[in-house]
Amino acid sequence: MREPVLAYLALGANLGDAQATLLDAIMAIAASPGCRLRRRSSLYRTAPVDSAGPDYINAVIAVETTRTAPDLLRLLQALEVQAGRERPYRNAPRTLDLDILLYGDARMHSPQLELPHPRMYTRAFVLVPLAQIAPDRVTAAQLQAVADQACTRLDD
Ligand code: ADP
Ligand code: MG
Repeated sequence: MREPVLAYLALGANLGDAQATLLDAIMAIAASPGCRLRRRSSLYRTAPVDSAGPDYINAVIAVETTRTAPDLLRLLQALEVQAGRERPYRNAPRTLDLDILLYGDARMHSPQLELPHPRMYTRAFVLVPLAQIAPDRVTAAQLQAVADQACTRLDD
């Protein structure tokens, strides 16, 4: 049995019933073999960054997992497909986007998987919910750098 690793995952959706899609995805991850849900941020509403269409709903969760990082990514991609995601073009609006932000302290640089996620520090919709559930993983300076991006916490 592998030692469990604490991974932080970002969820986003901006088509259809985005809130329901996100909550369903969190339940599906929590129910997946080798995954235990440890923490979940509030849901946040954000205007699209480098993308188009309606506002996004975003959240970050902490998952304790015995899966390898590539295997965890395969699970997330299968859930994206299940949620009806199509990839007509890069950064197209999507029913569900699931990214691995951090996998323990792992660093990886393959075309399929980069860890930490290469764009996480430029996106308020990642940093703000991450700071909510893991304040030690985000610095005040990092939050300050994205403070101009609107990211509204929803009651939930
Ligand atoms: P984005 O999440 O940047 O909006 P996509 O979801 O379309 O874009 O992902 C594009 C590719 O990014 C995926 O095919 C995946 O292999 C790759 N990728 C690299 N690093 C990661 C990561 N840490 N988490 C999720 N996907 C990643
Ligand atoms: Mg993605």
